[in-house]
Amino acid sequence: MPAKDFQDVRAWVFDLDNTLYPPSARLFDQIEVRMTRFVMDALGVDHARADALRRDYWRRYGTTLAGLMDEHGVDPDPYLNEVHEISLEALRPDPALARAIGALPGRRIVYTNGSAGYARRVLAARGLDGVFDAVFGVEHAGYRPKPERSAFERVFAAAGIDPGKGAMFEDDARNLAAPHAMGMRTVHVAPSPEPAPHVHHHTDDLTAFLERIAPPAGPGLDSGPGRADWRSRPDAQTWPRGEGRK
Ligand SMILES: [Mg+2]
Repeated sequence: MPAKDFQDVRAWVFDLDNTLYPPSARLFDQIEVRMTRFVMDALGVDHARADALRRDYWRRYGTTLAGLMDEHGVDPDPYLNEVHEISLEALRPDPALARAIGALPGRRIVYTNGSAGYARRVLAARGLDGVFDAVFGVEHAGYRPKPERSAFERVFAAAGIDPGKGAMFEDDARNLAAPHAMGMRTVHVAPSPEPAPHVHHHTDDLTAFLERIAPPAGPGLDSGPGRADWRSRPDAQTWPRGEGRK
């Protein structure tokens, strides 16, 4: 991963779910249960039908919400409140990731297809609430979802970001296509790579990837050659082992 690919980057955009916490936390298992229940209540369908619709909307629109809005005129705010009322007990603070993000030069933002309020709760549980300049949710994109380009354009305009000097970090490779077309550096953060022309880089270890771009300074960290491997640091254990991690 050549750090020079990122030397001009001054805007760092991070997805939230399964990007700023490991997929092994399985928060989406809880969210999906609540989404299905919401679809059952809103549309008056049974569980199997609601579950099928949820998956179909996610695949076709990028989010379940976009399908519910476009096809059924569902009010987005009650939906967003309801599906994000989940337990965050599985999350642990990640000081190493906080340091790595904090060392990036320029603006650092979170942009999620969830709500900004939910994102702030997740960031607090991860100990990442102090390292971002701004947090944007789907409400800031007029409820249009990633991967739609118009959603990115709206959020980046609100954030004052020049995509040509930006990098996007995402676990859903679909959501890197528009950023790539807009001139961003794209990083797929996931246990397994999904090679595609719009994916510049893949990593299964966001902290280590960021540390190679901008070595964090700070007590106890030697950023020079031969420094201790990140996994040997005490806080590395905040990432659960396994789950596709080497
Ligand atoms: Mg995600």
